[in-house]
Amino acid sequence: MSKHYEGSCHCGAVKFSYTGEEITKGVRCNCSICSRKGAMMSSEIIAPEALQIEAAEGALGLYQFGEKTARHFFCKNCGIYTFHQTVRKPGHYRVNLGCLDGVDVFALDADVFDGKHLL
Ligand SMILES: [Zn+2]
Repeated sequence: MSKHYEGSCHCGAVKFSYTGEEITKGVRCNCSICSRKGAMMSSEIIAPEALQIEAAEGALGLYQFGEKTARHFFCKNCGIYTFHQTVRKPGHYRVNLGCLDGVDVFALDADVFDGKHLL
């Protein structure tokens, strides 16, 4: 069953939407960047053609480190992490579930991805 989701950063300069699997749980990761962000991410890895990104000019920031395979995007105005391109599937995205309208991350169970040891 697919569902349409819309999300945004805190200030609204970065908006995104996609249609994908209904969200019934999330993923947390213990790698060096995710443990600092603390965000609950989508279990689904979203294809680039499925994710619509609408960002005000100059609003979308990109942070990379290490091997620079993953691309961590954030809003330069409010600082919120919105989505990133994964190491596991380069070019494909996981999104910050906390940014999605109508999704209560505190009501979802999370799987933990052991990025600390796998990345
Ligand atoms: Zn923002």
